Amino acid sequence: MEKARYSRILLKLSGEALAGDQQFGIQPEAIGQFAKEIAEVASTGLQIALVIGGGNIFRGMAASAKGMDRAQGDYMGMLATIMNALAVQDALEKNGCDTRVMTALSMADVAEPYIRRRALRHMDKGRVVICAAGTGNPYFTTDSAAALRALELKCDAIFKATKVDGVYDKDPAKFDDAVKYETVSYMETLEKRLGVMDSTAISMARDNDLPIIVFNLHTEGNIRRAANGENIGTTVQG
Ligand code: UDP
Repeated sequence: MEKARYSRILLKLSGEALAGDQQFGIQPEAIGQFAKEIAEVASTGLQIALVIGGGNIFRGMAASAKGMDRAQGDYMGMLATIMNALAVQDALEKNGCDTRVMTALSMADVAEPYIRRRALRHMDKGRVVICAAGTGNPYFTTDSAAALRALELKCDAIFKATKVDGVYDKDPAKFDDAVKYETVSYMETLEKRLGVMDSTAISMARDNDLPIIVFNLHTEGNIRRAANGENIGTTVQG
């Protein structure tokens, strides 16, 4: 395998990646597909921190639109991410990958508390660190958690694995003439609301010059290709 271009990355997976072809919940066989690839890439020495979403189970904002207190719903959303993190941990370990789940909300019986220096130590030892419970605060998203963890863990880039193969000027599902960007600036992403990640995450990345690599999770081999620096999607930078 070629030498990886990055030495440490933050991989952001949305909850929907765990739902497979269902609308909701966790489909273990869907997780198995990308877990194999993550384990393979980790075995080459690339250090990986994962941030997992929870939208396949619960979103605070959606619940608040139906009358639930927003913060209460957000805590439920964060709990959903812990379930997802445990599911991904199971799949990674079945592929021979050493992992630790570290949670921003204490849950001592199922996961370690998130401690930055400990997370760095785990990665130095070759363990994939799965960051659960987002930032631990309501009114944030796991995109923001991905930017935060990527910065404090000194990752070289955020890998945003999605269901499309990059960033388009308009929704490629709706418009045949949508054009894909090879690179796009943080400002253009924000101004045109290109929907890469939420604005808090993009702003944090912009303020700290952290590249965001957007690519399709469902194309086999893409995590490896992105790790090798191949241009398989869109890079948000500059
Ligand atoms: N959440 C939160 N604070 C965080 C991260 C997540 O309150 O720092 C809650 C929020 O309600 C969010 C839910 O957890 O809707 C699930 O996360 P997200 O929507 O980011 O998941 P994804 O869309 O990536 O699956």
